[in-house]
Amino acid sequence: MTDFGFPASELPAFVATDTTGTESLTGRFTSAESALAFVRAGKATVTLVSVKTGVRFTYRATAKDDCIFVGLLNGPDNTSDYKYLGRIARGIFWAGRKSPRPGDISPDAPSARGFDWAWRHLVKGELPESLEIWHEGRCGRCSRKLTVPASIASGFGPECAGRM
Ligand SMILES: [Zn+2]
Repeated sequence: MTDFGFPASELPAFVATDTTGTESLTGRFTSAESALAFVRAGKATVTLVSVKTGVRFTYRATAKDDCIFVGLLNGPDNTSDYKYLGRIARGIFWAGRKSPRPGDISPDAPSARGFDWAWRHLVKGELPESLEIWHEGRCGRCSRKLTVPASIASGFGPECAGRM
């Protein structure tokens, strides 16, 4: 993890291994703008970490029509095990469904409150010091695996980066 041709400070990535034993290079966003662009890109998987408590949640943000639907990872497979958490419409995160269903994640759950809190800061252009935001080694726009250092740093593959 040393020789990417980048100063280490510009590439805050580490190797994560998922349950299938597949390695991916995750990356940490260093600005609110880059994190926002990623979550809004269409097919983003993003992890929020509380620096204070170490609590982490992984979300999937999927753009559809004028909304971004937000799911919470709640199983071992980070490509399929997501549960509906809420949606982002006109820049605002709305936890829960319009018509709640049994077993839904409560808008008061730490995962919902955590996303809401982070989102409120990000849209104001703030990346709180107590919050880390990571991508999971996949492009935010197309979800394909990221392989080159510039992509790990930005969260977008070369093709998608050119279309943003
Ligand atoms: Zn892509």
